Amino acid sequence: MTAALMAFAGGLLIAVLVLLWRWRASHLHQHDALQAREEHLTVALWGSGEQFWDFDLDRRELHLLQATESGADLGLVVASQRATLPLVHPHDRASLRRRLRAHLRGDEPLFTSEHRVDPEGDGNWIWMRVHGRTVQRDERGRPRRLAGTARDTTANRHADAERRIASEVLRSMSEAVAVLDRELHFVAVNPAFTQITGYSDVEALGRPFTMLDSEGEGRGSALRQDMNRQHWQGNVWMTRRDGEEILCHVKHNGIPDAGGEVNFHVVVLSDITEQKRAEQELRYLANYDALTSLPNRSLLSERLARAIVRARREGGHVAVLFLDLDRFKDVNDSLGHATGDRVLRAAAERVQHAVGPQHTVARLGGDEFTVVLEGLGVPAEAEDVARRVIEAFALPLSLDEHHEITVSPSIGISLFPDHAQVPTELLKHADTAMYQAKAAGRRTWQVYSASMDETIRRRATLAGLLRRVVEREELSLVYQPRYSLHEDRVVGAEALLRWRNPEFGSIPPDDFIPLAEDTGLIMEIGEWVLKEACTTLRQWSEAGLDGLRMSVNVSAIQLLRGDLAATLARILAETGVASGQLELELTESAIMANVGRSASVLHACRVLGVGVAVDDFGTGYSSLAYLKRLPLTTLKIDQEFVGDLTRDPDDEAITSTVIAMGHSLQLTVVAEGVETAGQLEFLRDHGCDEVQGHYIAAAMEREECLAFLARPVAVPA
Ligand code: C2E
Ligand code: MG
Ligand code: MG
Repeated sequence: MTAALMAFAGGLLIAVLVLLWRWRASHLHQHDALQAREEHLTVALWGSGEQFWDFDLDRRELHLLQATESGADLGLVVASQRATLPLVHPHDRASLRRRLRAHLRGDEPLFTSEHRVDPEGDGNWIWMRVHGRTVQRDERGRPRRLAGTARDTTANRHADAERRIASEVLRSMSEAVAVLDRELHFVAVNPAFTQITGYSDVEALGRPFTMLDSEGEGRGSALRQDMNRQHWQGNVWMTRRDGEEILCHVKHNGIPDAGGEVNFHVVVLSDITEQKRAEQELRYLANYDALTSLPNRSLLSERLARAIVRARREGGHVAVLFLDLDRFKDVNDSLGHATGDRVLRAAAERVQHAVGPQHTVARLGGDEFTVVLEGLGVPAEAEDVARRVIEAFALPLSLDEHHEITVSPSIGISLFPDHAQVPTELLKHADTAMYQAKAAGRRTWQVYSASMDETIRRRATLAGLLRRVVEREELSLVYQPRYSLHEDRVVGAEALLRWRNPEFGSIPPDDFIPLAEDTGLIMEIGEWVLKEACTTLRQWSEAGLDGLRMSVNVSAIQLLRGDLAATLARILAETGVASGQLELELTESAIMANVGRSASVLHACRVLGVGVAVDDFGTGYSSLAYLKRLPLTTLKIDQEFVGDLTRDPDDEAITSTVIAMGHSLQLTVVAEGVETAGQLEFLRDHGCDEVQGHYIAAAMEREECLAFLARPVAVPA
């Protein structure tokens, strides 16, 4: 028994010892494993940057476990500490509560939340992402403890927000943005890139940047070289997917990696094609006239200044031609501004063509053009050019297939260095000379001289005086007889206007009629002339001289403005003169200023029974075709041709041709300015109908002329 007891006790001891040994061995092993695990946990905790938390729901106690570096040996310490529940941001509280409840109810196996907390209570909110789950329940199965991890995601969230903003910015940028790899292949593009280049992201990605190269210019490789620099910007022509060339402003930035090597390139492109075009257009507008495409005043001044500098250096001459279209206002008024514009364009072309492409023709506005002539051998060459320009206007300007119009220029010339040294003065003097050309009868040129300034002043004074000329009764008419070569008697007279001013004395019509036309006063003056002439005619017939005809000169302005036929009808009625006794004289240029309007006004006059004569025939450019269309009765050969009869065979030929031509159109042909018996004889021999001139009689006062008309005139047969 004892032995058995002993054996049992011994066995028990051994078993206990074995168990003890085992326990110890396992305990020792467990201790090692536990320590290793704790180490792993510490490192993992530190490495993950997470915090462990443990929350007792009943006691509302929170424990935090956190790994921190300690000391210089970088040993890690895990600290577990009781913590106060951090303050949750008011905006995030409801969602946090909702998520927690869902987990506690068992709806969600995991509790997750991302919310803002203020751990220090100092208003410094940080974002925490929290994961956890129930780790302990009470006997009734209700959750008692939760544990899990938490992590500060503030920096991530900021980075995220930045990324979102950046990508949104890229999406909404109007500039094309492309990211290229080190081989300059596309790795990313934004929507604006697609819009500007026409390549979608799918089409662009992986392809080389050189696909945008502009053809032929090889800029791509140049661009590639430039791209090797880290920053570069400039304007480059590129080709869109559809082949259209666009000018792009390119900004390039190389993005170096940590080692300083450029692995990516960001290229920002903006399409500046339109902008450049607009700039060019602006520059063009600033320097060129939009209507005629000629240089404008500012470019002219620049070129003139440069021409002067050159001439000064080389000792040459510069001429400025100031050109104004005659009676352009009437073209504008009667035909409308659209037609006026077409006339200006056609005139611009004609001037440029006449002077040649090597000289600058500019439009200063309105109907004023300026020509700068450089490299003149002698100043007289400027006059040759002016003559050429005037001759170039002899042919009508064609406005379109059906319409043409004849206009003429008056030209003033000033010279460097003779008249002035600076552009403004030269232009001013050329302008003055142009006015003189107008005063000299238009369709001509004048070279500036200092005395012109005096003339211009006189003109201004005269213009002022002219305003009151009718009311002051300073005007009068003189009458020059017209002699019929068929009937050998005086058949009528031409009324010629005279102006006698107390201060300036007698002023010739060639001086003041252009002035009256320019100021519009010719309307009032012209009406006075018509009335006065008809009154005289009436008096003559009362004195017993019946059947005489009276010619009255009418200006282009009277034809274009107002209602000439109505005025005539009224005056004829007032004075009781038979319409057949009256004849209007119009110069060719007056009729040609606007052939269409002239024709209709003259028709209306003819309907009244009034005759119509072309005055100064041969000096203008009227073609037979025009004359045929006009309701004319009389042709007056200009005294320029008559004066040289018997001396100049050319003038003789012209005169005899005009007589024949007039007769072929059933017109009465009158020769003006007949001063010699020889001239008269020639005219009689060639069948001219009537003559007028000092050989018969000069112009006379009304009474004197009446006496002349009353006695028979002896003219050699
Ligand atoms: P016109 O109608 O051709 O008139 C003829 C001009 O020649 C007149 O000059 C006349 O005096 C001049 N004359 C006449 N016979 C001879 C001659 O044998 N030899 C020379 N050398 N000259 C002669 P005037 O009176 O100085 O008139 C000049 C121009 O003024 C006229 O040329 C006409 O175009 C214009 N004019 C005259 N009166 C009027 C008028 O009442 N209204 C308008 N609109 N113009 C007028
Ligand atoms: Mg006349
Ligand atoms: Mg005449």
